[in-house]
Amino acid sequence: MSRTSSLVLPLARWTLVMLAIALAGYWTWRQPWMQASAEAWRLARLPAPTALPVPVEGVRARHIADTWGGARSGGRKHQGVDIFAKRGTPVHSATHGVVIGVKDYGLGGKQVWVIGPGGERHYYAHLDDFAPGIARFDRVQPGTLLGHVGDTGNARGTPPHLHYGIYAMSGAYNPWPLLQAGDRTGSAVRPVRR
Ligand SMILES: [Zn+2]
Repeated sequence: MSRTSSLVLPLARWTLVMLAIALAGYWTWRQPWMQASAEAWRLARLPAPTALPVPVEGVRARHIADTWGGARSGGRKHQGVDIFAKRGTPVHSATHGVVIGVKDYGLGGKQVWVIGPGGERHYYAHLDDFAPGIARFDRVQPGTLLGHVGDTGNARGTPPHLHYGIYAMSGAYNPWPLLQAGDRTGSAVRPVRR
């Protein structure tokens, strides 16, 4: 066996291994959860918003009551704002973000969770239904349809409304001032196609 041919086999094997690693890397990178993680990481490093559009179509911020901290059953405090609208009114994402939960359980009923700028989680609850095809790892922007206003969860039988909450690393805080600030800057959501 010549010196050259003794090198060819290990070299070919090494090339194949490197190719396999590259392909595996590329495949991983193409996975929705990977793309979603990259986007969530990018957003986490952005500042949290100080003004937000109202996520319910056709509702002005000035018509939303500040019910943050109001007493609720079981000694709970209201950790969000309630945005009342006719059943079936479109609910849009208020921010750029990544969908991290589409669930139907507990107090919130049909709910969508979006992680947005500053790593804050946005909670859209009591939905009548979800936007068609919406799923975890979907990337959204202000105006992306998430679902429609309803009365699911513990809102059953009450006037249909969106419960909207924002959770920072330190816990929930009041979205109401941000919605008012959004109204002043005229940042109404315009529906966008997913
Ligand atoms: Zn509420």
